[in-house]
Amino acid sequence: MDINWNGKCMFCGRIINKRGMKKHLKTCKSRIELIDSKDDKSEKFFCISAQDYFLPEFWLLLSIPVNSTLEELDMFLYNIWLINCGDHPSQFIIQGIKYVDMACCIYFMMEHCMDAKLNEVLKVADEFVYENTYGSNVRFELKVMFEYSGKKGKEKASLMARNIAPDIRCYKCDKKATIISPESLYSSFHYMCEECADESGGDMLLPLVNSPVIGI
Ligand SMILES: [Zn+2]
Ligand SMILES: [Zn+2]
Repeated sequence: MDINWNGKCMFCGRIINKRGMKKHLKTCKSRIELIDSKDDKSEKFFCISAQDYFLPEFWLLLSIPVNSTLEELDMFLYNIWLINCGDHPSQFIIQGIKYVDMACCIYFMMEHCMDAKLNEVLKVADEFVYENTYGSNVRFELKVMFEYSGKKGKEKASLMARNIAPDIRCYKCDKKATIISPESLYSSFHYMCEECADESGGDMLLPLVNSPVIGI
């Protein structure tokens, strides 16, 4: 498998491939200076890696307090990768157990819900899965990379590193594409630059985001 997909460290700006980044973050001096903390105002964080199951060139590393809920992790992933999508039910699968979102949980009276705290269901080196359950093919693979003591921040979860957005070109003029234009809800789509999208007058235009998921 090709693992040389480059990404950017949010702390020092270095461009490093996926495997290298997982090692780099643990020792990145800029990260340690900025967010590591051992005093009594600190709290524990997990560094979690995530990648798309179908398009693993889309990957990221995030930081989240260990006492956050799965729901907070769900929101973070949603905001960063699923923003073009409808609000469909999602779930985490951890050690074979499905943790469903709160609405489903109440409706189906499920035992395991996303109000579970990360440190109650996960530990360092655990691998788990995030899925969108609405008959779609959204599937992310996640892993708890390491734990650290950090400064209490305003943000619950934050991005530590992320793949560089693929260089996608407008299918008409070859300029950098910023728009996705689905031909219809279920068929293929085009990548376009802003000008060509304006000219096309399409009414289902979506912003092209650095995400493996086009819109569901
Ligand atoms: Zn760095
Ligand atoms: Zn164009």
